[in-house]
Amino acid sequence: MRQRSAEVIVIASQKGGVGKTTSTLNLGAALVEKGKKVLLVDMDPQANLTMGVGVDVGELTLSIAQSLTQECIPLTEIIRAIDLGMDLAPASIDLAMAELELGNALGRDQALMEALTPEIRQSYDYILIDTPPSLALLTINALVAGKWVLIPVQAHFYALKGMAHLMRLVRQIRGRLNKDLQILGVLTTFFDGRTQLSRQVLETLQEEHGEKVFRTVIKTTVRLAEAPITGVSILASAGNSDAAHAYRALAEEVIQRVQA
Ligand code: ADP
Ligand code: MG
Repeated sequence: MRQRSAEVIVIASQKGGVGKTTSTLNLGAALVEKGKKVLLVDMDPQANLTMGVGVDVGELTLSIAQSLTQECIPLTEIIRAIDLGMDLAPASIDLAMAELELGNALGRDQALMEALTPEIRQSYDYILIDTPPSLALLTINALVAGKWVLIPVQAHFYALKGMAHLMRLVRQIRGRLNKDLQILGVLTTFFDGRTQLSRQVLETLQEEHGEKVFRTVIKTTVRLAEAPITGVSILASAGNSDAAHAYRALAEEVIQRVQA
């Protein structure tokens, strides 16, 4: 058995369409390529990550929803191996009901933390948790269960607004429920180096968040726009593309930061 417990990284932003799910999947694939053992956890009732790795959501009888609610099915019974050389705790639409049910439960913030038992944490090097585009209970559960927060930010005009809410939530959770929680980094996504706007957004991010901004940026590319249909990572479908190299570089930065 491994001595160390997994580094648990929560990919979060209350905005949708910023590349959370895409980054969870491809960062996971890049970590696997570097020999790491990875578990993906889908905490979004829309189940985009689950579908994105090729799981047929229609045929799922159990999802993470059943681990978080009164059914209390052990997460080990929910986790399955997927084709990408990692494991997945899948989501389904049941998660929306689970969130409502949790809302009235004792310890409602801690359900995921408890579901991710020490045994599970010791079985992986990295656990990546994808979250819905909100700062509600499912995201709070992820932030209580994790140690690191990775925040994707679109290099677009209004992208910077709203980050303050997430930062405040992280501080609140650190103060009350999870003192170990830290920002791992801010990831610039949908970057287009030809536009002044993209470069300005990156500059502003660097002014406001300094070293926390990853050196790696994820450019806008049709390869990632098409990726969800394929059920594989960009590293597998276009291993030599800019995007594949970017996610590899991100994985290196992530490994350095968690070790520092
Ligand atoms: P989120 O999980 O934050 O809602 P997604 O990862 O699902 O965001 O990305 C939103 C959409 O944008 C998806 O259709 C995805 O395939 C696409 N996408 C993600 N990253 C890129 C990128 N760098 N370039 C082009 N399209 C992208
Ligand atoms: Mg998503």
